Amino acid sequence: MKSPLLAIDIISVYTNKLGDRLPLPIRMAKCTPDTHTAIFNIAVELAQKGGKLILSDLFRSYDMQSQSHNDFVSGKKKAFSPPPGGSFHEAGRGFDLDLSALKIPLADFWKIAAGHGVVPIISQPKASMSEAWHFDCRGSHQLVYDYYEQGNGTNFKPYKAAAASAILSVGIQVDDFGDTRQAAIQSGLIRLGKVIGNLDGNIGKRSRQALNELGISVDMANIPEMLLQVEDMVQQAFPDEFRMPSV
Ligand SMILES: [Zn+2]
Repeated sequence: MKSPLLAIDIISVYTNKLGDRLPLPIRMAKCTPDTHTAIFNIAVELAQKGGKLILSDLFRSYDMQSQSHNDFVSGKKKAFSPPPGGSFHEAGRGFDLDLSALKIPLADFWKIAAGHGVVPIISQPKASMSEAWHFDCRGSHQLVYDYYEQGNGTNFKPYKAAAASAILSVGIQVDDFGDTRQAAIQSGLIRLGKVIGNLDGNIGKRSRQALNELGISVDMANIPEMLLQVEDMVQQAFPDEFRMPSV
């Protein structure tokens, strides 16, 4: 199966007319199971230190990401926002938080986040930097990042490749690929440890060989079936990304 997107009930920067904080709006309040677990565990640990995890953004649909990018291009929104296909927000794996509510130094928050597999997008813990508020729960897509960083793929930067992989794994289109299902198969193969060259949406010789090695018969007339088999193997390898959390 695809990695599911679960509803999440978490306090946000949005307020009602009385100034009370509201939960994150439903259209944004969706994430993968492992992200759900990470957010709640981080919130608990932060609360013990006197801070609060208050979100301003989480899931963005294709249209929401497109709007966000257009607002950046037009200057309406100052923070950089990539076009659809390049943000972990689109996979329910990226979130933005209210830095002023942390009540601890950003460097200390980074340590808490890291303990739950959540990483920042900037290189130094400086709260004044743009995107200091953005964090990603990369999950198994970190393997795609590493794969590109090691030079096994060359058509994208590592971050873009990992984000595209994460978006594909929840079943959402990425425009860079002619065939989304072939790209999703390749994302799975890379996360299962196979070296297939570029994640490009074209099942080539190396992808075929990798499928054979996994015992999946290559049938280009039945790509959905191949994808189902790859998804099953990915689910077995990374169960936390598919499991419904207990909280
Ligand atoms: Zn963000």
